[in-house]
Amino acid sequence: MATASTTTTTTTRFPTRNPNPNPNPKLPHLLSFKSSRYPSLLPHLHLRRRFSSISAASTGDQTIVPFDSEKPREECGVVGIVGHPDAAHLCSLALHALQHRGQEGAGIAASDLSTLRSSTGLGLVSEVFDPSKPGLSLSSLTGPAAIGHVRYSTAGAAASIHNVQPFLASYRFGQLAVAHNGNLVNYPSLRSSLEEKGSIFNTSSDTEAILHLIATSKSRPFLSRVAEACSYLRGAYSLLFLTADKLLAVRDPHGFRPLVLGRLPRANGAPSAVVFASETCALDLIGAKYEREVEPGEAIIVDARTLDISTSCLMPSKPRKACVFELIYFALPQSLVFSHPVYESRYSFGATLAAESPVPGADVVIPVPDSGFFAALGFSERSGVPFQQGLIRSHYVGRTFIQPSQAIRDLGVKLKLSPIKGILAGKSVVVVDDSIVRGTTSSKIVRLIRDAGAKEVHMRIASPPIIASCYYGVDTPSSEELISNRMDIEGVRKEIGADSLAFLSLESLRGLLGDEAPSFCEACFSGDYPVPPVEYEDVNSKEPLYVA
Ligand code: SF4
Repeated sequence: MATASTTTTTTTRFPTRNPNPNPNPKLPHLLSFKSSRYPSLLPHLHLRRRFSSISAASTGDQTIVPFDSEKPREECGVVGIVGHPDAAHLCSLALHALQHRGQEGAGIAASDLSTLRSSTGLGLVSEVFDPSKPGLSLSSLTGPAAIGHVRYSTAGAAASIHNVQPFLASYRFGQLAVAHNGNLVNYPSLRSSLEEKGSIFNTSSDTEAILHLIATSKSRPFLSRVAEACSYLRGAYSLLFLTADKLLAVRDPHGFRPLVLGRLPRANGAPSAVVFASETCALDLIGAKYEREVEPGEAIIVDARTLDISTSCLMPSKPRKACVFELIYFALPQSLVFSHPVYESRYSFGATLAAESPVPGADVVIPVPDSGFFAALGFSERSGVPFQQGLIRSHYVGRTFIQPSQAIRDLGVKLKLSPIKGILAGKSVVVVDDSIVRGTTSSKIVRLIRDAGAKEVHMRIASPPIIASCYYGVDTPSSEELISNRMDIEGVRKEIGADSLAFLSLESLRGLLGDEAPSFCEACFSGDYPVPPVEYEDVNSKEPLYVA
């Protein structure tokens, strides 16, 4: 397994400046090179997309494959709590609720109002903060304020302890921790400029660039330094910062990734704790009440001593572009995301799909569990075709497994999904899934249902065809690997072996979102990117954006 748990406890991690940028001017200094001169020395510049094109990491003749490698992956979840004596413990519980947003690593940084401490590790939240492990510790993360992070799982070099957040740094104004959900599309030029000015990077994460920008800002006070740093950022970021006595939540001006604010009532008349989280399911788990979204471009700062809250518009407003894929697949169905109940959205996508692309003569509608459940329910109720759980998902299979050969690799989906022959045999089956990415899993599911005796298999997808990669914090394959980018719907149908195939149309998706449709990002369906990912297309053609 690629994610053996390791935990570190640190108080200082990043030197922010390189004191001697290039001691020998005759040699190109590896920490200050220009991307246009030494492109081959810049593996980190294409890091996000390079990881995105990896679904399996080879280890000799074996291949380690994430179970859900077919699906796009949310890259992170964040949580912040201030005003509670057990802030770090509550943070760990809230991170459990956000585990679906990332399984590679987890971490928490906490403040006791004078010192920040952090604990991070590879693996699930339960593995990283396993109380039976010696030396770890939630109990060492004392104080009334904490931020936490879960990071997504992938194969290969991404599984590095150095990339697990929160990042904790010391600089001239004290300690600072940050947790980030999203992706900066100008990370290559930001990093290049910062390195040119002497910054030393410890990770391959774009989040570290934000810390460097804050550290090198000459603005006062802290909020102004963050505002100046954010003015250089392009792309998606829902950020939580923790200092000794403040917790700050910031969302990018387009609001790509979700971030909500809630309050946790306390006993004996104590003031309610303030909670931030990627999804409301994290609030629900710890008993906090949802209050509202952090608005795009907004900064909310909470004083950890007084719990006074101040809010400001940190950046000029831009068209709101909330990630519609949160509603389709990422968020848990019980969550409220962008003020939409997720289960209701999925139900309506399925119901509209039934009206748009019915299956005459179908006997049964089944979901691909778990993410296709509510869409299948909507499809069934709108079409009048009975709903059944024809595929059972195993909850006891690890996150990754070793696949020594193609033959055994084909068994992978059977480990995860088991068909119920009594429901499928001799039937015309409608199978509803949330999306198709590469198409490899879909073809295995169709074969599984046929092998269980189904007479016909009709696949219905409760989202439009994915034709473009995401650059805003979701790990999708390169465009060339997306099956719907390579072929039309009939071509995909033949490839996956279904009797019929239909997707929810983009027009119907927009119609369901109503007046709010323009406020959603749909770039993976339309290729219409709200913030152009130009640096990933041609890194050498761009001048660095950060020049201060
Ligand atoms: Fe979400 Fe797709 Fe936009 Fe990425 S490109 S933010 S996955 S809608």
